[in-house]
Amino acid sequence: MAPKDYMAEKEKCKRFLQEFYSEDESGKKLFKYGAQLVSLAHREQVALLVDLDDVAEEDPELVESVCENGKRYAGLFADAVHELLPEYREREVVAKDALDVYIEHRLMMETRGRDPADTHDSRNQYPSELMRRFEVYFRPPSTLKPRVVRDVKADSIGQLVTVRGIVTRATEVKPMMAVATYTCDQCGAETYQPISSPSFTPLIMCPSQECVTNKSGGRLYLQTRGSKFIKFQELRIQEHSDQVPVGNIPRCMSIYTRGENTRVAQPGDHVAVSGIFLPLLRSGFRQAVQGLLSETYLECHCITLMNKTEDDELGTEELSDEELRHITEEDFYEKLAGSIAPEIYGHEDVKKALLLLLVGGVEQAPRGMKIRGNINICLMGDPGVAKSQLLSYIDRLAPRSESNTHTLTHT
Ligand SMILES: [Zn+2]
Repeated sequence: MAPKDYMAEKEKCKRFLQEFYSEDESGKKLFKYGAQLVSLAHREQVALLVDLDDVAEEDPELVESVCENGKRYAGLFADAVHELLPEYREREVVAKDALDVYIEHRLMMETRGRDPADTHDSRNQYPSELMRRFEVYFRPPSTLKPRVVRDVKADSIGQLVTVRGIVTRATEVKPMMAVATYTCDQCGAETYQPISSPSFTPLIMCPSQECVTNKSGGRLYLQTRGSKFIKFQELRIQEHSDQVPVGNIPRCMSIYTRGENTRVAQPGDHVAVSGIFLPLLRSGFRQAVQGLLSETYLECHCITLMNKTEDDELGTEELSDEELRHITEEDFYEKLAGSIAPEIYGHEDVKKALLLLLVGGVEQAPRGMKIRGNINICLMGDPGVAKSQLLSYIDRLAPRSESNTHTLTHT
């Protein structure tokens, strides 16, 4: 296969963003991405979600490339947006934060102090990550089927994948450094270091032309105000119990969410996450300890909460009278009880108790207000007899429920 010309690919991305449109009823052209570029340019919008179904209408080959090599194409799309934005700016942007002022000041100082014939020191240029205030994400094409966590293996590395699972853990949202800015104590020049991995080695020596030629050994100091931070949250998702083969332990996957994708999911949520499956490369000593092994994670592009949609899917069709009669004909109670957590064998009595508690309860009417009585259940038993599994099933079934698991150790 011939190597790809990524400049040409970037032009394709650009063309798509500029030219994609849909027609409304009156035949008017709606430029979906053009309109969003305008909002991005005026900082009214942060995240641009590129729907790969839209891309497929224009250029199916590009979609294939995006799915195969997600990270590179996310970069290409981001570059394309970055280059297009000035064309879409219609007025001056007023929103200014510390970083804006900082950059503006730097640029001003630079133009003032520079002799026009001076060649620019490329190492001290502003990295594009520092200037960008938008995020680009992909929504996977509808042809990309959701997968089970255990099916995502090494051959998927670098690809766009969608996995389903339940969120078991979510860290706090913390600022993560995206670009570190340093100043030199000798020459005052600034150095920027874009950071792409979870850890980094800080720069120590000043790389500026002045310090290198004079061998003055300028030390770099990290500038928090001039650095760029993005929101970061790590999620952990686990397979659904029905996706786990008999006798296996459910598998987990780490999801890294950034920017606008943070604070979307909480522990307990059923989600479909699309993102790019990547190996986690550590730097320095920690990678040396790991040797050739590497942990993996999913760089999140799009999270969909399933709780709502699943209910919608189930609730759309009502049973016909005949079907209802057929079901209620005989053993209705047993059938209903048996359909609670069908993946768990036996425990008919426990399932019946859960069913009765689900539909029962004492009605309460304080001050004319009708409230359904609280339903409480306490399950006790030996470890590994599916107590939590049963309760979490009920938890999913009843919209306002809460399940707590306590382990008591007898001494
Ligand atoms: Zn220096």
